[in-house]
Amino acid sequence: MPTYFGAWIAQILPGPLPSETEATCDKCAMADPLRVRTEPFDSGLKCCAYDPELPNFLIGAMLRDRDPQRSDGVSRMIARVTGGMPVTPLGLAARPRFTENPGFGRRGNIPCYFFDPTDGGRCTIWTYREAVCSTWFCKYQQGERGFIFWAALRRLLILVQRSVARKCLLALDFSPEALAILFPPGESSAGTTVASRVLRFGQLPKSLPTAAWSGWKDRKVDFYRRCAEVADELSWAEALACAGSEGEVMATLVEEAYSVLCGREIPDPLVRDTAIDYRLDGDAMLVTTFSSYDRMSLDLPLFDALCRFDGRPSAEVLAEILEQDGIELTTDRLLYLVEQGLLKSAKT
Ligand code: SF4
Ligand code: SF4
Repeated sequence: MPTYFGAWIAQILPGPLPSETEATCDKCAMADPLRVRTEPFDSGLKCCAYDPELPNFLIGAMLRDRDPQRSDGVSRMIARVTGGMPVTPLGLAARPRFTENPGFGRRGNIPCYFFDPTDGGRCTIWTYREAVCSTWFCKYQQGERGFIFWAALRRLLILVQRSVARKCLLALDFSPEALAILFPPGESSAGTTVASRVLRFGQLPKSLPTAAWSGWKDRKVDFYRRCAEVADELSWAEALACAGSEGEVMATLVEEAYSVLCGREIPDPLVRDTAIDYRLDGDAMLVTTFSSYDRMSLDLPLFDALCRFDGRPSAEVLAEILEQDGIELTTDRLLYLVEQGLLKSAKT
């Protein structure tokens, strides 16, 4: 996990983060046609067809990094901050063309500004990546349960990173005039993004009035570094407090999703999820449950046998499948089918 997030998450979760080994980023799983069974991702782009919303304090942490191994990312960041692209006191925003991103990951998409396509592609700001880049995977070791956990963590971290970015403005005594520009009357602060701030002002940072910088306009690098110092001082409890009761709700959802993930329980009785998408693929069934990026291929006899899960006690159904279909569903196989979202609790 990146700077700040790693320390913060360690205080939310009672155990380690799940390891998503199915998302083989060095040899991108989504660029392998045999694994995706649809148009693969561009191997020179991968899922970095995304422009991150970097909050001011993460930018500042990067700008004070002197490690030569990260100099490429630091240089890119300085160029981005001082080079006339969208940037605000709240952080970096998506570039205008990223508001339209058809065929995500596929050939023709624009790479992230911080993506280095050489040698199979790498992120030059990996240590400082933001909430989405830290929590998004194409595939999950524990299927839908992993997906739900990471999605909950993403929502929490997005909320907290935006809230801490605002806290930094207050801590650095931004003037009421500057705050009034950044948070205009008539607009709810909830759910607003750095991107929307920039887009509101015509997409270019120079269109932000000078007053919006509260005296820091010509010292942006120093400003972002000061934001990092503010964030350095925040414990997780203080960072979460910045996000108010919404943050508490999101943190509770993360804890619950983590508990389900680690619990590895199999509900009983079970039913097959009838809302899943499936299609014949040779002599197998290609099934999509929670994500089109994370499909699974099931033998036809097994796929058909799952229709027997109709809400009766699982022991009865498993015995029937063994007798009628000759398929032994071990506890591990059953857990896999539940985690992938194919079988659901009959009680929900
Ligand atoms: S998470 Fe991204 S880089 Fe990693 S395997 Fe998936 S698509 Fe490829
Ligand atoms: S910040 Fe890094 S991980 Fe995120 S999209 Fe850019 S290159 Fe990829």
